[in-house]
Amino acid sequence: MHERGMQGQPLQLEEGWLCLDFANTVSWHASARPQEKLNTYADLVAWARSVRLVEDKAADRLLTEAAQRPEEAQAALHAARALREAIYRVFAAVAAGADPAPADLDTVNEALARGMVYLRVARAGDEFRWWWDVPRGSLTGMLWPVARSAAELLTSDDLSRVGQCADEDGCGWLFFDVSKNHSRRWCGPGCANRAKARRFYARIKQAGEDQ
Ligand SMILES: [Zn+2]
Repeated sequence: MHERGMQGQPLQLEEGWLCLDFANTVSWHASARPQEKLNTYADLVAWARSVRLVEDKAADRLLTEAAQRPEEAQAALHAARALREAIYRVFAAVAAGADPAPADLDTVNEALARGMVYLRVARAGDEFRWWWDVPRGSLTGMLWPVARSAAELLTSDDLSRVGQCADEDGCGWLFFDVSKNHSRRWCGPGCANRAKARRFYARIKQAGEDQ
């Protein structure tokens, strides 16, 4: 499946799935001190813009409307974080071979139900595309394709490719393993090198104690 943005444009994703990129908007997600990247509604819009989910013009419009209705923007941010945490926990459970909590699946389904009524198919050149007919003034429209992405991934044949960084300090990054033999363990070189260094020092320590 090739996910697309709100207006049918191609996305720019790190892990190939919108729901996983969204889940990764917290650093050290599996640690005792997770670092939030979405601290304001503007952060949420900036993320949506960065992955091309929302086009520049639409993003500017969202920021203007959020400035006029700060309380609603704050509520939208809270809804976004709640959906993200539910998605994170669902796929972290899947990656660990465990059952996701029904309440988290409910949260995904609620966002899905809210959004799907605005999903349309439209002619784009010589092909057809999904696009989202977001009502004017809605501040949460960008969450609907995220929920749909989670539903698509959960029901896809590739679900077993979902993994979580094996970092012991709690990096928690969720990834989609495209390696041939499903051998990916780390989010990237940072965590892989730290693990390598840790093994190296553990060996030295062990050798010291053995003497
Ligand atoms: Zn990592």
